[in-house]
Amino acid sequence: AAVEAEPEWDGTGRTADGQRVKIIANVGSSEDSTTSVAAGAEGVGLFRTEFCYLAATTEPSVEAQRAAYAKVLTPFHGKPVVVRTLDAGADKPLPFLTPEDEPNPALGVRGLRIGREQPGVLDRQLEAIAGAAEDSGAEVSVMAPMVATAEEAAWFAERVRAAGLPRAGVMIEIPAAALSAKEILAEVDFVSLGTNDLAQYVFAADRMLGALAGLNDPWQPALLRLIALVGEAGAELGKPVGVCGEAAADPALGCVLVGLGVSSLSMNAAALARVGSTLGGVTTDSCRQAARAALAAGDPARARQVARAALGLGA
Ligand code: PEP
Ligand code: MG
Repeated sequence: AAVEAEPEWDGTGRTADGQRVKIIANVGSSEDSTTSVAAGAEGVGLFRTEFCYLAATTEPSVEAQRAAYAKVLTPFHGKPVVVRTLDAGADKPLPFLTPEDEPNPALGVRGLRIGREQPGVLDRQLEAIAGAAEDSGAEVSVMAPMVATAEEAAWFAERVRAAGLPRAGVMIEIPAAALSAKEILAEVDFVSLGTNDLAQYVFAADRMLGALAGLNDPWQPALLRLIALVGEAGAELGKPVGVCGEAAADPALGCVLVGLGVSSLSMNAAALARVGSTLGGVTTDSCRQAARAALAAGDPARARQVARAALGLGA
């Protein structure tokens, strides 16, 4: 089969009618950052800080963390970046943090829940992130993983502000959080949908199991309906809603997400040009039509088909 040429993209995310949508990168290392900048990323929507410490058996010092984060952020000097606090647990256990005796690690003390139990670990990480923001010159926002309630969001935002960091957000990747998006957005500056975990939890289907990949399909209408709730909450409160799960890397689905009210799409470097150029070829109105059609579909294959048709993309 012929290899499709990389599409042209000028590095500014927007629809054909000029609505701005930030096309940004998911990174976990300085190599990822370099590749993403070269591919045109306008910033970072998700820096997975836990990727720096997958083998750490003791908590890294504030100084070591500051240096590690600054290295990843420096290529994005002057650009907006979202640093996620440690998302330890389940598919990403950290030896120095993750409890070993949990029967269901995906439902266990993970992500921000560890921060609640050990606030010192979170505060030291926030101190390191504030230092790395200074060192790198990147425009840093901080967000928490695995947030379920508005109370948790408020608790996190307060610690972020206490660390002198100007912008706090949370991930929406637990169904309860999607259902409480308005209350959560009232506490933070932005939210970002983690569609990988949101799909896993809404379908009760382990994201690591290939046998359940059909349920974890990001075109599942039930998942899109939850995302729609979050988009509506963002519009109502006038605060940004992003997506940093794999869903954002599918060009047609990216357009559907924009139609659902999402204003930034964060993905791996390899997907940036295709998503950016596809979005540049469709109008906001057709994104909304595609979103409506996908929401009303009965299954993921049909959702994809009707959305692509509404966008004027081939099958
Ligand atoms: C997600 O859950 O969609 C996400 C972006 O975070 P991670 O894949 O690191 O869990
Ligand atoms: Mg996640």
